[in-house]
Amino acid sequence: MIRDFVSLLFPQNCLNCAQSLISEEQFICTNCKIDLPVTSDHKNPENDLFRKFAFEPKIKSASAYLYYSREGITRKLLHNLKYKGKKEIGKTLGQWMTPTLEFLEFDFVLPVPLHPSKVRKRGYNQSEQIAIGIAEVFALDVKSDLVKRKIATKSQTNKSKADRWINMENVYSEVHEDLSGQSVLIVDDVITTGATIGMLSQRLIQANVESIHLASVARGK
Ligand SMILES: [Zn+2]
Repeated sequence: MIRDFVSLLFPQNCLNCAQSLISEEQFICTNCKIDLPVTSDHKNPENDLFRKFAFEPKIKSASAYLYYSREGITRKLLHNLKYKGKKEIGKTLGQWMTPTLEFLEFDFVLPVPLHPSKVRKRGYNQSEQIAIGIAEVFALDVKSDLVKRKIATKSQTNKSKADRWINMENVYSEVHEDLSGQSVLIVDDVITTGATIGMLSQRLIQANVESIHLASVARGK
């Protein structure tokens, strides 16, 4: 009742079509939720995302929940999550994704780390918010401090190939924990090239992780 009263004073609108939301709806209206551009990655183990990582035998599965496009609803959700301070969207997206992950076996959830300077600027790591939403449903831990991002730069277009390689090598810190026998679910907001996920996976493999699953909110078509 209090929530309904609050929404009467501060009406919430669908981030996609701007229609006002009813109390059960979160961020988008029911019609827009039905229209979400869901992939069928989880039903297709050899999907396009997984093929990016097929060279690494410890990576057992990869799936994205939604397709990303420049004008689409996925972009609106992620834009609000990353640049408009709406961190609760992360948790909600994580909850929405869980039916696509329930057949996987993993022991903990690892959000892709953000560099501390970005966390300070944004106030939170959006992937950690998504990871929290997933982990709560499965009653598992989110190990946000397992690996640290050491290099903030994203744009490496001006650097030589050799420099870029060195940069990538040092993007993430070593894992100071033995992960023998453990399976991890790595959570990201959008996977594009997969290069950073590859580096992150190497750190986990160096720590003897048993297997790795990848879950992303979105990927390109
Ligand atoms: Zn809508």
